[in-house]
Amino acid sequence: MSKFETVIGLEVHAQLNTATKMFCSCQLADYMAPANSSICPVCTGQPGALPVTNSKAVELGVKAGAALNCHVNGISVFARKNYFYPDLPKSYQISQFDRPLCEAGSVEIDLKPSGSKTIRVARAHLEEDAGKSLHALGSRALDYTLVDFNRCGVPLIEIVSEPDINSADEAYAYLTELKRLMQWAGISQCDMEKGELRCDVNISLKAAGTQELGHKVEIKNLNSFKAVKDAINHEIGRQTSMLESGETVAQDTRLWHEKEQKTVSMRSKEMAHDYRYFPEPDLVPLRITEDRLEAAKAKIGELPRARKARFMKDFGLNNYDAAVLTSDRYLSEVFDASMNKTTKVNAKAVTNLIAGEFLARANELKIQPEDYLSPKTILPANLAELAGMVTAGTTGPSAAKTIFAASWETGKKPEILLRELGLAQVSDTAQIEAWAKEAIEANQGAAQDFKNGSEKALGPIVGAMMKKSKGKANPKLANEMIKRLLAG
Ligand SMILES: [Zn+2]
Repeated sequence: MSKFETVIGLEVHAQLNTATKMFCSCQLADYMAPANSSICPVCTGQPGALPVTNSKAVELGVKAGAALNCHVNGISVFARKNYFYPDLPKSYQISQFDRPLCEAGSVEIDLKPSGSKTIRVARAHLEEDAGKSLHALGSRALDYTLVDFNRCGVPLIEIVSEPDINSADEAYAYLTELKRLMQWAGISQCDMEKGELRCDVNISLKAAGTQELGHKVEIKNLNSFKAVKDAINHEIGRQTSMLESGETVAQDTRLWHEKEQKTVSMRSKEMAHDYRYFPEPDLVPLRITEDRLEAAKAKIGELPRARKARFMKDFGLNNYDAAVLTSDRYLSEVFDASMNKTTKVNAKAVTNLIAGEFLARANELKIQPEDYLSPKTILPANLAELAGMVTAGTTGPSAAKTIFAASWETGKKPEILLRELGLAQVSDTAQIEAWAKEAIEANQGAAQDFKNGSEKALGPIVGAMMKKSKGKANPKLANEMIKRLLAG
């Protein structure tokens, strides 16, 4: 047991899923787009240019508030955050300060191996991104710096947690859940490779069992979940050994060096008042009516944890299956649509088809989740019908795979394909007995081993029988028949 406890708070920036920027009509440029190809007088801070708030971004911010279980403020205020940096042409960033859009929320995370924990969300507010400085072109270092303003004004939501996170694993679980919620509700695509989700970590250690926190260290701009985990673990180690040798951990802002797997000091911590926040004079306060909030909630519908609980309660799914199905909103919708066409007894077979055949085929054909319920895949009614055939034993596992693929391809009903492809499972006793006799005849050695008490010896005989029947023998009846013949 360590003498110290770790206290972590995360600030996550997620790019909102809009077509245009936060305060101008510039298109959001692809991250591969030529530098400065999507800019205008507003997002480059030309004199006299005035910002206009993107209402889609506000709608997504309200949705985020609902998804994060926050109080969404009826009135919130944009503020200027002033600092000088070459990639910030206005010399201020429009953000929100003392009156953010969302406050006092919570996110429930899963802990391994079991259990859950609530991480409180202090606030979530809207802001615009800054540009990018380039110190190298590809592998060529420059002796000057270039700036690309394409990202200036890209709409972001910053989600600030309370310091309720106590380990790297909890931070990872929290980020995983945030990402799922943002994607589920269509708020952000959270593509980390494109810089659509970035994270700052605040971490401090305190003596176990005490209330007094050590100095806070901030690790800036982490762009993968793994980097967050590694940086936290490194920082816990660094601060623990400092404290154990009687040193004080300085308040600090640090950067994570991926290659060297360590954090390095960036600058002394800037206090909030250094930014000289003041209300943005060019924008009126943001008013969110009760109607607008209710409309956003209605659009999100059921959130993943509620859906998972419903799947377990209504369809008797186990925790694992329900978690797999609700890992993605669209996948869970395939399940719901299929279950609409069948009964609860087939829920397990429907789950197996979705988690197995459906996902494998969708991945192979690179079908996007939002197209899972489109004509590009299998009809839910056909998936449900096939699941019913599997449950009833009309079709065995390998025949089910073949029928699934054919139904996906042709749109035909599984009952029809079963006949067309001659794949009906055979349960006829006389036929089963005939196949079993042939299989035993061809595997005398194994048959003798089984008689001598080796259960395992049954394997090759059943295998031979399935081969002879081209997979059509009912496996349960086949097993019973072989055992009976060998016992006799
Ligand atoms: Zn612009």
